[in-house]
Amino acid sequence: MVIKYLGTAAAEGMPAIFCRCALCEKARAQGGKNIRTRNQILIDGDTLIDFPMDSYMHALTYGIDLSAIENVFITHAHMDHCYPQDVTMRGAPFAHNMTRPVINFYGNEKVINKFIEHTRDELKPAAKESIRLHTLKPYDVVETGGMKVTALPARHTVGEDCLLYSIEKQGKTALIMNDTGVLDESVYDYLEKCGTRFDFVSFDCTYGSGGGQMKRHMGLLDNIAERERMKAHALVHEKTVYVITHFSHNSSLMHDELAALAEKNGMTAAYDGMETDI
Ligand SMILES: [Zn+2]
Ligand SMILES: [Zn+2]
Ligand SMILES: [Zn+2]
Repeated sequence: MVIKYLGTAAAEGMPAIFCRCALCEKARAQGGKNIRTRNQILIDGDTLIDFPMDSYMHALTYGIDLSAIENVFITHAHMDHCYPQDVTMRGAPFAHNMTRPVINFYGNEKVINKFIEHTRDELKPAAKESIRLHTLKPYDVVETGGMKVTALPARHTVGEDCLLYSIEKQGKTALIMNDTGVLDESVYDYLEKCGTRFDFVSFDCTYGSGGGQMKRHMGLLDNIAERERMKAHALVHEKTVYVITHFSHNSSLMHDELAALAEKNGMTAAYDGMETDI
């Protein structure tokens, strides 16, 4: 399974869209891995986790054929993960000779309602025919494209069933944890009962080196504690790869600082364009 990080910032981007704080100015000046776009992950070239407004830029930067994407699993309705307006361009007269006739979007009830609401004025019949919307609840399982995807409950926004995704394909299993605070014990109990063993874990690390706030996002200290909980439930093994992502300028850390901190703790700090083959 090839996991490619297309965007690794929190909602405001890095440098943040309207911000002139010291870190954002430094990131603008240094560029490179300090430039982070909004959260998105590509799996094996045909599956996306999340669809932010930067999807178009990701396609341009990494040469991705967006018409070839078969499945998009959306974690929650925040705009840095769910930007349905661009989907109105998927069909004539805006798109011709598309690689796949149909794209599937999976998400919770709020995500699906956002798709309907935000495309209502501009969705032409051809685009409407090419889009399939699927509502997911926590613990729903989808088998598609050679993958088994399990939706798990995140801890993020009150009043919305925010989701995490466990993705199994060809004997490998990846857990994508965005956006979320620390998980409820019942999630780990469920996974242990299923006999799940993750080869790859991607953590929400919005708070950078910090932690302890736990309810909506995590920092590295929380990620380390979550890894211990996963070990206690036998959900990981010695070779499991741990990656941290979804960074905020408010964490006050440049990429090289985050990378050094992560490495010291047996993890890897993601950057836009980072690819891992598990
Ligand atoms: Zn987010
Ligand atoms: Zn800033
Ligand atoms: Zn969010």
